[in-house]
Amino acid sequence: MTYIGRFAPSPTGPLHAGSLVAALASWLDARAHGGCWLVRIEDVDATRCHADLPRRIMRQLLQHALVPDAEPAVQSQRHAQYQQALNQLIGRSLAYPCTCSRKQIAGHWAGHGQSPQRHGERVYPGTCRPQRGAAPAPVPAQPHAWRLDIAACLQRQGLPADAATVWNDRRLGAQQQVVTQAVGDFVLRRADGLWAYQLAVVVDDADQGVTHVVRGEDLADNTARQIVLQQALDLPTPRYLHTPLVRGTNGEKLSKQNGAEALPEGQEPQALANLQAAARVLDLPPAQAATPHQALAQWTDAWRRRWAD
Ligand code: GLU
Ligand code: ZN
Repeated sequence: MTYIGRFAPSPTGPLHAGSLVAALASWLDARAHGGCWLVRIEDVDATRCHADLPRRIMRQLLQHALVPDAEPAVQSQRHAQYQQALNQLIGRSLAYPCTCSRKQIAGHWAGHGQSPQRHGERVYPGTCRPQRGAAPAPVPAQPHAWRLDIAACLQRQGLPADAATVWNDRRLGAQQQVVTQAVGDFVLRRADGLWAYQLAVVVDDADQGVTHVVRGEDLADNTARQIVLQQALDLPTPRYLHTPLVRGTNGEKLSKQNGAEALPEGQEPQALANLQAAARVLDLPPAQAATPHQALAQWTDAWRRRWAD
């Protein structure tokens, strides 16, 4: 089997205990399948990223003996590929421009006495969505976002707008989401020109030939959106495995906001200790090892037995 996996850190901070779990799990899954392991620097949101962090992250991975099989891909250098994908969606009448402000979207829901929300982001009510079959509206002169017309994407697959998008997560089992209701027509490119994570990740996974996505469980509920987008672009859907999360002091996913510290740096014993902690989160037995390399070899065998599919 051809297996290509990836670890896709956002360089908003150095690796911490939580991101090491995702890195270790994706590395182990790739090695256990005799596959390739790639790293992708997800710096589309330049306002939140620091220029020196990609190098620091790569150094941290190396210290933990997590070495990618190719030079890392860098999202900020892939504007042309994202634009091409957006053009393709526009050409298929699957994307449309949107000039709504956050305030207008909130105002819409206030008028309806309800306000569906998702992670603080309100479900888009479809204000700018063109009528089905109508000629596309002219592209507005003022700054505008581009949104995906989910119902049109589903219709292209012969499905109704309320069809659930389903997938089978290797760890979480059967999953589903009615994307039109749970999320609505999400943004592909923001009005300020930044590419949305959903578009970038789908284009990159396809361009890098990624067959298996292994990432933190906090990202699981992006999967249905990404599948809709893959289908709209006629791209294959990889297999997904979402790993357990390291929790911060407030019980939420460990992040810079709730106390994630950069991984303690040091010599091999420190790297090994960091890896042992990450392995515990993944329910792997403690390694009887003197070096990161030895530990990784033991866990690769354990992982192969457990996550064979
Ligand atoms: N860049 C994302 C993050 O750091 C991960 C994206 C993914 O694995 O799909 O949270
Ligand atoms: Zn709009």
